[in-house]
Amino acid sequence: MTLRLHVDGDRWRTHLRSFGEREPEVVPVIKGNGYGFGFERLLAEPGPNHWGEIAVGTYAEAVAALGSTSAGIVVLSPWRRHDPSAGAAVGSDRLLHTLSRPHDVEPFAAAAARAGGARVAVEVITDLRRHGVTIADLPGVARALAAAGSVTCTALALHHPIDRRTGSDPVGQTLAAVAAARTAGIGAPLTEVLVSHLSAEELAAVRRGVGDVRVRPRIGTALWLGDPGAYTPRGTVLDVHPLARGERYGYRQRRARAAGTLLVVGGGTSQGIGLAAPSAPRGVARLRTLAMSSMSASGLALSPFSWAGRKRWFAEPPHMQVSLLLLPASVPPPSVGDELALDVRMTTTTFDTVLVE
Ligand SMILES: *Cc1c(COP(=O)(O)O)cnc(C)c1O
Repeated sequence: MTLRLHVDGDRWRTHLRSFGEREPEVVPVIKGNGYGFGFERLLAEPGPNHWGEIAVGTYAEAVAALGSTSAGIVVLSPWRRHDPSAGAAVGSDRLLHTLSRPHDVEPFAAAAARAGGARVAVEVITDLRRHGVTIADLPGVARALAAAGSVTCTALALHHPIDRRTGSDPVGQTLAAVAAARTAGIGAPLTEVLVSHLSAEELAAVRRGVGDVRVRPRIGTALWLGDPGAYTPRGTVLDVHPLARGERYGYRQRRARAAGTLLVVGGGTSQGIGLAAPSAPRGVARLRTLAMSSMSASGLALSPFSWAGRKRWFAEPPHMQVSLLLLPASVPPPSVGDELALDVRMTTTTFDTVLVE
């Protein structure tokens, strides 16, 4: 239990509560590794509004979530006929499915009819170009939905890019999609539009333009990870070995270029350590991180672990469950059991232990 996430429970939950008060229409996104906290743990968090509805990434996650929460579940991935988990989940009236291609309406309706009915959102494509029907497709989709008695459509869904180019207009695109859906007669009636990656100002602008349609942002990162002071990833020191200059170490049997200390620290590739950039900073910080994480002249790579205020070099590529780090002789080493600060991307790190304190 050596790669740990320490969570200041009071501070984290205070943040979640105030987030929910600021944005009461939020649909919390719970997917993947549960943003580092764990998928099941996030499902169990009561949250500011007792999460009447949450969103998951995949149908496999939807099936898991059905057994763990009584909330409604938005499935972000669009329905596909060949997804076995999708077949298993169509029967639950707690799910809101996403349809993203005109020709999926008919087979989905057939599956829904066998299961006794289903609720859907129609996804409209944006500049992101991940999934979605075009605005020109909406009249045909409306006709197909009207013909499918077993399917109730009450929502549109739009997923916008995070980094925008000048001239992009996610608010305008969202309003245009809602207007076109109303003209086409989508929804019986259309009561909500689910959006992703709009700012508070953009949400307000959409709300001003759509009348009584609920505008519901689907948010994960800014919710769960929005107060970085509320959680601290750490790796535990498992062993400390003095290294003489020229001494060999590790799987690769490299020679130490100078005397120092070899640290064996909990956390390796199976937990996501050392596989990618430590986090996703932008701008100058990003350039600096990329420069730092590139190999040094000696062929070493900078690790995400810090000791005595600095990131430390990997002694060699991380192993499955541990990492080997080098400390120069001038730095007093930690003791076995000490914890090192760790700068990792929360969505790609699997902690052995999440300690909510
Ligand atoms: C993952 C996801 C989100 C949540 O994204 P965050 O950046 O974590 O808030 C929202 N919408 C869709 C469609 C997603 O796939």
